[in-house]
Amino acid sequence: MGREQYRAIRANYQRVLDQIELAACSVGRRPEAIRVVVVTKGHPVEAVFEALSAGIRVFGENYAEEGVQKMLAVGDEQGIEWHMIGHVQSRKAKLAAQYYDFIHSVDSLKLAERLERFAAEFGRRTPILLECNVSGEASKFGWTAWDEAHWEDLLPNFEQIVAMDHLEVCGLMTMAPYFDDPEPARPYFRRLRRLQEFLMQRLPDASWNELSMGMSGDFQVAVQEGATLVRIGTAILGPRPEITET
Ligand SMILES: *Cc1c(COP(=O)(O)O)cnc(C)c1O
Repeated sequence: MGREQYRAIRANYQRVLDQIELAACSVGRRPEAIRVVVVTKGHPVEAVFEALSAGIRVFGENYAEEGVQKMLAVGDEQGIEWHMIGHVQSRKAKLAAQYYDFIHSVDSLKLAERLERFAAEFGRRTPILLECNVSGEASKFGWTAWDEAHWEDLLPNFEQIVAMDHLEVCGLMTMAPYFDDPEPARPYFRRLRRLQEFLMQRLPDASWNELSMGMSGDFQVAVQEGATLVRIGTAILGPRPEITET
């Protein structure tokens, strides 16, 4: 797989936008309410440059350092946003707080406390999402949220995070289990949406408006179920290059 695959970014991106518009209109939502985070993890910085020339400004990365390398290569061009979408290890909290515009993957109180401390140090107020595990899959990160009977238990920790001065809780993020077709993912997106409604009632001090859900294989269903942020890699950039040891 060569760099030629990136020449298709513009057309792929337009197709994804068209599919989002169709999905949104099918349920009476405004397409403008949905933003695409283009996931460049695993791709070289050339992919980011191609994406920029196709008009893309919102990028998602899974590994704090990999993303920072790309940010530094790209520079401070006006209007670019970098979103952290992968699990943030404790020792990467400083990097995440220093560089990223949005953190989708806050999955513990301990991580939130570290991000709060570093965001304060850097004089920032970082928008975050709380990543929730609504499937029960052990391989997934996120707050335990698959059983609605236990949502109440989340409130003490969430309340503490909402009260933090340098983090701004904007909503929720989830990853549905992987399926060959998108339809079976729908109940998980619905569950996140219901959790959002629960939190809007119980912790009204945060806005909870953002729902980050949906990837290449299931974003249309996620949009129908209320996604405001979809995280899309493969459908726009093509397959991720094999990781080769150097
Ligand atoms: C890799 C990744 C994506 C994008 O996956 P694609 O299937 O390539 O669209 C979205 N969200 C997270 C958290 C990811 O790790």
